[in-house]
Amino acid sequence: MKIIIAGGGIGGLTAALLLHKSGIEVKVFESVKTLRPLGVGINLLPHAVSVLNELGLIPALSEIAVSSKALVYYNKFGQKYWEEPRGVYAGYAVPQFSIHRGRFQQLLFEQAKAIIGEENIFTNHHLQSFSETTGKVVARFVDHATGELVHEETADALIGADGIHSAVRKHFYPSEGEPKFKGITLWRAVSEAPPGLLNSSMVMIGNTQQKFVAYPIREEENSCTINWIAEIKNENNTTPPKRDWNKKVEKEVFFPAFASWKFDWLDVPALIGAATEVFEFPMIDRDPLPRWTFGRTTLLGDAAHPMYPIGSNGASQALLDAKALASVMSTATDAKEALRAYERQRLEATSRIVLLNRENGPDKIMEMMEDRAPDGFKNIDDVISHKELEAIANHYKKVAGFDKASLTDSQ
Ligand SMILES: Cc1cc2nc3c(=O)[nH]c(=O)nc-3n(C[C@H](O)[C@H](O)[C@H](O)COP(=O)(O)OP(=O)(O)OC[C@H]3O[C@@H](n4cnc5c(N)ncnc54)[C@H](O)[C@@H]3O)c2cc1C
Repeated sequence: MKIIIAGGGIGGLTAALLLHKSGIEVKVFESVKTLRPLGVGINLLPHAVSVLNELGLIPALSEIAVSSKALVYYNKFGQKYWEEPRGVYAGYAVPQFSIHRGRFQQLLFEQAKAIIGEENIFTNHHLQSFSETTGKVVARFVDHATGELVHEETADALIGADGIHSAVRKHFYPSEGEPKFKGITLWRAVSEAPPGLLNSSMVMIGNTQQKFVAYPIREEENSCTINWIAEIKNENNTTPPKRDWNKKVEKEVFFPAFASWKFDWLDVPALIGAATEVFEFPMIDRDPLPRWTFGRTTLLGDAAHPMYPIGSNGASQALLDAKALASVMSTATDAKEALRAYERQRLEATSRIVLLNRENGPDKIMEMMEDRAPDGFKNIDDVISHKELEAIANHYKKVAGFDKASLTDSQ
């Protein structure tokens, strides 16, 4: 069995490593010429980290990531109302990692080159088109800058791991159009901060109209790096900003809304002030698809199920797709049937998360707190019970597949 992967992002590279480990011939084709450490922070939930554990990557990840201790929610006055432990601190077998997306991708890329062989990992190869011939799929790659055809590859299956603007998805759904935008804009950056700020935890502040999320992605004795996202919802804004992960903007665009968010435990304006560059990105997703697999071709990761970056699931679900794909392929004699089996395992599961994230996922509690206590609270028990908060957190974990019970069952 031979597999072509279009897209050397987080999902594509992990799938390649797992397929290779299962004894399957695999080649990865990435559009960009040079992989640069692009992006800011992402979180890898424990079920996704288990996949990386199978690849022996936990020691390398521990060197470049932070093992997250807790997820903590505060209202816009900086009052804490919910805290739950995470990763090993919650009793999982593996950590939840907060990590710089670009450094993580670089790690997977280097690992793929070392293990699968540099001759099988191509950059500057942008998938332009593909077609099925009898018993095979043929993919054609161009130099994205010039449009010149640079390579043709034939294999038993093609995996479209080519991200939110997937060419493979577009081939099967040509009239789908642009991703969905509901007026939420994200401003993302990293800031250097004193050591220990946020105590290795992820904090969520505010409500679903205006939110600030922060967590460390590097911790050293003398300093740490905090990844942060400022988010504002404006229902009247129907035109999304440019969908470019690297679009820089001036802080003044959003800073005034957060200027008063100075708490005794975190100075938000100071944190924003410490960033050297800020990237603007729209909160976008796409509707769940009825089908990912067409003959010898399927979709994986953001190409299959781009979702709102809520609940730390974007990269995590791509890793779970990779695991499901490799496990069906490892015993497959018929590539087409294996791709259908992969879709059966993953399509419905991820569609549920896409839809739940549209309803704010675990951040639903931010909306409830704002509705019930817009002026803050004296005693949280007068506003919401622990049981109610816990039920929302647990429901999300179940849908996203990382509640402890189902992880223990599957181990
Ligand atoms: C540059 C960049 C920066 C990002 N930064 C963040 C961030 O800061 N925070 C966050 O939460 N998420 C970020 N993401 C998204 C995050 O990586 C994904 O949501 C998640 O990891 C799922 O991974 P994926 O492999 O499905 O998609 P991605 O990680 O998006 O990878 C898709 C890959 O496919 C390549 N590609 C695209 N089209 C083609 C083609 N036609 N042929 C071949 N290759 C192609 C892309 O160059 C990319 O490397 C970023 C993605 C990118 C590409």
